Amino acid sequence: MANPDAVFIGVDVGGTKVAAGLVNSAGEISHHTRVPMPANDSPGALAAVISAIDLVGKATDENHRRESLISAIGICAPGPLNPHTGVIVNPPNLPAWRNFPLAAEITKVYKLPVHIDNDGNAAALAEALWGAGRGYRNVFCTTIGTGIGTGIVCNRRIYHGRTGAAGEGGHTTIDYRGPRCGCGKLGCIEAHAAGPYIARRAAERIRAGERSVILDYAEGCPDRITSEMVGRAYLAGDPLAKQVLEQTAEYLTIWIGNIIDLLEPDVIIVGGGAGAMLQPFFQQIHNRLPTWCINSQCQEIPLVPAHYGADAGIAGGAALCEVTTSANL
Ligand SMILES: [Zn+2]
Repeated sequence: MANPDAVFIGVDVGGTKVAAGLVNSAGEISHHTRVPMPANDSPGALAAVISAIDLVGKATDENHRRESLISAIGICAPGPLNPHTGVIVNPPNLPAWRNFPLAAEITKVYKLPVHIDNDGNAAALAEALWGAGRGYRNVFCTTIGTGIGTGIVCNRRIYHGRTGAAGEGGHTTIDYRGPRCGCGKLGCIEAHAAGPYIARRAAERIRAGERSVILDYAEGCPDRITSEMVGRAYLAGDPLAKQVLEQTAEYLTIWIGNIIDLLEPDVIIVGGGAGAMLQPFFQQIHNRLPTWCINSQCQEIPLVPAHYGADAGIAGGAALCEVTTSANL
């Protein structure tokens, strides 16, 4: 069992900000902090991560004896990265870091174990340990926001594949004639169901002359349409918004059907901003699953909202420490 007094610093490194917090072995977060991330400046980016960790450490000092409590630092960062070596490879939204040994740099400063993984994997582990996947053995978790991240956790372990690059489920193609994804491939689920693509489909229909309250939210300019506006319009009873989200749910059903046929997880967890917006369509996905899945028991697999919202990265970073600490004891 893990030390019940152990606490970790969980760090969420993004393209525009670094968030950090203190996380106990029950997955509860305190001492949140947030600093801007200079994504184009390598020393500045490292300094931002250190400053976020320092702020959490300082807040902890005021309440506890930090040195006896904090046992590790866990960082979730944009991929691609190597979770075994802690090297950030070449993330598109952190251009300052190319083959950057982030774990080694942070270890040098704090003399603590440092664990690193990408956002999708780390969020999935946090959900499996402390969130909506608690009590399940095989967990599939997806975060639907500006992109689609995924993570596969079996028996409290992230499935990493051969080199650590597994779990990129957001870039599996569901239609090879579909739209071009940011990754370069055609028809990834991300290019159908992530926030910007939901907004794009609504904008295309409005440009073609369909009427919707979404255009009012965007002050008459289809270029300004966001997925949040589509969600708001749906809640206001807008028929076009409803159709766009129903179509998104159908794309997700095709994708989840594939995932169940491949992995047959014990639970499927959906997080992220667009994921939360799609919650009213979970029942539709459940009902339509048998059309897109050969698993005769596919409807027995719970499809549930994530426990962690905006804090998923902080919890995810800490979860990387929790499994390592537990394994060592
Ligand atoms: Zn893609």
